[in-house]
Amino acid sequence: MKKLVIATRNDRKYEELIRILGDLPLLEVVHLAAYPGIGPIEETGDTFRENAIIKALAVSSYTGELSLADDSGLCVDALDGKPGVYSSRFAGMAADDAANIAKLRHLLAGTPSEKRGAHFICAVAIADRHGIIDVAEGRVDGVIADAPKGNNGFGYDPLFFLPGYGKTFAELDASVKNGISHRFRALVQARRLLVEYLERTEISDR
Ligand code: IMP
Repeated sequence: MKKLVIATRNDRKYEELIRILGDLPLLEVVHLAAYPGIGPIEETGDTFRENAIIKALAVSSYTGELSLADDSGLCVDALDGKPGVYSSRFAGMAADDAANIAKLRHLLAGTPSEKRGAHFICAVAIADRHGIIDVAEGRVDGVIADAPKGNNGFGYDPLFFLPGYGKTFAELDASVKNGISHRFRALVQARRLLVEYLERTEISDR
């Protein structure tokens, strides 16, 4: 059985990944904590894709195993795609969700609703000890609300309004959000890529 090391220390993300990938045959999903020697991996890329690749390659080259890494964030049209890869540190390195939300609201104050379009993106990279195998991407479109609403979720969820649902991500049940999110969409695609990879390598291993 092949190991798939998940390149995240975030338990919430790990749980979501297990939900989508945990039942794949021929694959044992392993937490990064099983490799305490791996230090922090710097996200120095300019895109979500680059950052996911950097993390997946770092983990595969250290462990010699198959790895999967994700990177995600919010892109706001009126801010030319910001905060983008800086989503978690938008209001500074030590910023929390409330500070990031406050900064986004401040920057968009007075922006009319038709110009408040935004999307979340998630890139998921898969690598093995020979290098990158593939990258999957998922996206969900919405609008940045004037004021935060809802208590579920994390990050920018209270400001991310989905016109089709008439609710923000933070007002949706986790089970609903987790069925339409950028992360879910990227992971479903990553699951397909993994199945193809496992089939290919099983044949070549014979
Ligand atoms: P990372 O993928 O853990 O680096 O997340 C980057 C940042 O993007 C998070 O800290 C959040 O600020 C934001 N973000 C990513 N996905 C979501 C989401 O589903 N809801 C709200 N914020 C998100």
